[in-house]
Amino acid sequence: MEGKQKDTFTEQNFERKPSIYSLQLNELEMWLKEQGEPKFRATQIFDWLYKKRVDHFAEMSNLPKGLREKLENHFIITTLKTIAKHSSQDGTLKFLFELHDGFSIETVLMRHDYGNSVCVTTQVGCRIGCTFCASTLGGLKRNLEAGEIVAQVLKVQKVLDETNERVSSIVVMGIGEPFDNYQSLLSFLKIVNDEKGLNIGARHITVSTSGIVPRIYDFANEGLQINFAISLHAPNTELRSRLMPINKAYDLEKLMDAVRYYIEKTGRRVTFEYGLFGGVNDQIEHAEELARLIKGLKCHVNLIPVNYVPERNYVRTPRKQIFEFERTLKKHGINVTIRREQGHDIEAACGQLRAKERKEEAR
Ligand code: SAH
Repeated sequence: MEGKQKDTFTEQNFERKPSIYSLQLNELEMWLKEQGEPKFRATQIFDWLYKKRVDHFAEMSNLPKGLREKLENHFIITTLKTIAKHSSQDGTLKFLFELHDGFSIETVLMRHDYGNSVCVTTQVGCRIGCTFCASTLGGLKRNLEAGEIVAQVLKVQKVLDETNERVSSIVVMGIGEPFDNYQSLLSFLKIVNDEKGLNIGARHITVSTSGIVPRIYDFANEGLQINFAISLHAPNTELRSRLMPINKAYDLEKLMDAVRYYIEKTGRRVTFEYGLFGGVNDQIEHAEELARLIKGLKCHVNLIPVNYVPERNYVRTPRKQIFEFERTLKKHGINVTIRREQGHDIEAACGQLRAKERKEEAR
């Protein structure tokens, strides 16, 4: 699939009509104005797209025919082709979707007792190069348009429509580094958050970054109420550089400065994700060092037992040791949870399914 499309990001994309899902309500209003159409049509169009969830402009029956034609001429309604759907014993559903240019992405639906959560992808591949992660194995192919991220949520919502359920939360923790596709990320967040759109509350949306420091400052200044998570994974800069090459560009000290700025500016608590990689960063002394690093910060630590990636060499931390790590942090007054694993039997972790698919194609 990917082999077909080595130079996708050239003219081909320019010729394509933009996805209507990439437009925020005010952007749609502006477009309507340019077309000499009344502003209120934007709300009607949003209603068709996000409440009635139609797939064709022709179905927007309360719009004049001329406007429907204009929409048709200017935009597409992104459809994602499902090429694989795996369901787990615990209800987790993992989708492999194909994009218009043949690239594939993953989206995961997780069912919790507090609702349905969707994990979205922001890029085809990733260029950050974390040494434990499957998403980065083939490098970055291209950024997703905002509408292609929105379409993932809608696609899952349409599945849930069959049982009258709704997507209640979103985690931007799929394939890709969201802060490496910042403008599309922001548009996406505003569109799904809009009460006239999918109306998913900011406090029910979480964005996770590997630590692109300048964007952390930008994100702090956006004035959003979105939950924010940082992939920390190490309590000191040497170890972090070994695990995450991005630490060589933005080291731990710079990262922590940015995080402190974020907390001060937004007043919001941040989450530190800390993957436990057997024998690497999972000793009690690491927990002690981590506690010292984040002491006094308004934060929460989410411990992630490593997801096994065949191409990577990391091994699991024994359960007993995971609990000991947790206890050590608690002893220092740190808020900590161990990530509940979902979809283990269907390779639901970060890029695993796509990586497998890519390998099969290469054969
Ligand atoms: N690029 C963003 C979004 C990914 S979120 C980021 O880095 O934050 C997914 C989380 O799972 C990140 O914390 C990531 O570091 C972590 N992760 C990736 N591969 C993993 C693996 N094999 N085991 C455990 N955690 C992993």
